[in-house]
Amino acid sequence: MAQDDVFKKVVAHCKEYGFVFPSSDIYDGLGAVYDYGQMGVELKNNIKTYWWQSMVLLHDNIVGIDSAIFMHPTIWKASGHVDAFNDPLIDNRDSKKRYRADVLIEEQIAKYDEKIEKEVAKAAKRFGESFDREMFCQTNPKVLAEKAKRDALHERFSVAMNNVDLEELRQIIVDEEIACPISGTRNWTEVRQFNLMFSTEMGSTADGAMKVYLRPETAQGIFVNYLNVQKTGRMRIPFGIAQIGKAFRNEIVARQFIFRMREFEQMEMQFFVQPGKEMEWFEHWKAFRLKWHKALGFGDAMYRYHDHEKLAHYANAATDIEFKMPFGFKEVEGIHSRTNFDLSQHEKYCGKNIKYFDPELNESYTPYVIETSIGVDRMFLSVMCAAYTEETVSNGETRVVLKLPAALAPVKLAVLPLVKKDGLPEKAREIMNELKFSFNCYYEEKDSIGKRYRRMDAIGTPYCVTVDHQTLEDNMVTLRDRDTMEQKRVAIADLREMLQDKVSITSVLKKLS
Ligand code: ATP
Repeated sequence: MAQDDVFKKVVAHCKEYGFVFPSSDIYDGLGAVYDYGQMGVELKNNIKTYWWQSMVLLHDNIVGIDSAIFMHPTIWKASGHVDAFNDPLIDNRDSKKRYRADVLIEEQIAKYDEKIEKEVAKAAKRFGESFDREMFCQTNPKVLAEKAKRDALHERFSVAMNNVDLEELRQIIVDEEIACPISGTRNWTEVRQFNLMFSTEMGSTADGAMKVYLRPETAQGIFVNYLNVQKTGRMRIPFGIAQIGKAFRNEIVARQFIFRMREFEQMEMQFFVQPGKEMEWFEHWKAFRLKWHKALGFGDAMYRYHDHEKLAHYANAATDIEFKMPFGFKEVEGIHSRTNFDLSQHEKYCGKNIKYFDPELNESYTPYVIETSIGVDRMFLSVMCAAYTEETVSNGETRVVLKLPAALAPVKLAVLPLVKKDGLPEKAREIMNELKFSFNCYYEEKDSIGKRYRRMDAIGTPYCVTVDHQTLEDNMVTLRDRDTMEQKRVAIADLREMLQDKVSITSVLKKLS
């Protein structure tokens, strides 16, 4: 299946089966804002639980907090967001569409990469097994020419971004003859800086209302509380603080479904370390976070690191964990060594001493910080894309199955009476009542059993049990496995024990320690 099609199908599937709806749907939606439906909220909660437990439960030196979305506006001045949380935007005068100048140029660089890849793929086909990719890339004139253009553009782009040179960004767009995908023209405006923070007013205007921001990241809530937590929790460095919460960014280009939203959720952990030890911890967290992703079982080839060449002003190292989405490898998580930038800035702006006293060294210092930051929604999208599968089954029909890791599946077990009579629904209800305390069960009696299995496949339910007439006599049910579609008779009394470990988040957590 073409990857473009996969993405369209995932979006449609999310709506059809109650995972994700456009926000304000009956009013035709609101740009880049989405709601999670009855299945989506379960999957999302499972992702959050998996993250939270992997941080807070598995590490006795990490604790959680839940800070407010509104914070003192000076926090955003200190963190640099008021002055520097900008994206360069450019408009096409004909289509009136707005773009991020940096994204237009990055897409152009990706086009050169694609051209190179096409040449390589053609040659690989021609030469068969004897093909030497490295040799080909180093000697083929077409590839060398494209690579030279690509590298020159990349270099020019990096310099322009580092110098925040907006005129140069526009000039690159002009020189590369980049056209608007909608109008097809190159009638571009100037490039302007656009601050991504949403603001509102707190207090009535008569009182002299204060301009406040909706937080664009959860991290600052951790920084300004780090000493409260350290002192009240008697934490000793190294220690971490984890938080899950909403963040808001007025994104310029908001396409690609829940990949880039204006209201989204983050799971962030800030790890406070002694100055000089940050690189060691950076490597540690980089490895641990990749392990967390891989433990879900989608295959190691779905992930890669992307080390940042251009570092944010506060960082001395940064890596993204990228996931193979249908539209290419994309960032799902960032791991950043943020130095002592944020804490030093807050110390300066609040005018109070917020240093940590290290009892072992008998000295005070401003800790260095390693951050792991992952978007819940982006993680959700990656899971949906990787799980979405279409298979041809033995009767020639196509079945759509969400091969979700059982630990993340919204429903763990469907309990289905074969027919809606003869005491079978009552027996099925009995099983539900027994098992619902252990994991999420779902009861359904409408439609043929085949149709009900398909519905459960489509929402990713790993197991179904069918209650038939025989069940009333021997207390056995038919247990069906989502992925293999194998069915076997099992005793009702054994169900909990058989399934609990397979569907629990603990089973994945165990892979991490
Ligand atoms: P991008 O380069 O894609 O804009 P970013 O580098 O600005 O992302 P961070 O500020 O490092 O992202 O945020 C950490 C994580 O939060 C990202 O890896 C991503 O998963 C998530 N995230 C950031 N912005 C959005 C958004 N607009 N919608 C959904 N998730 C987001």
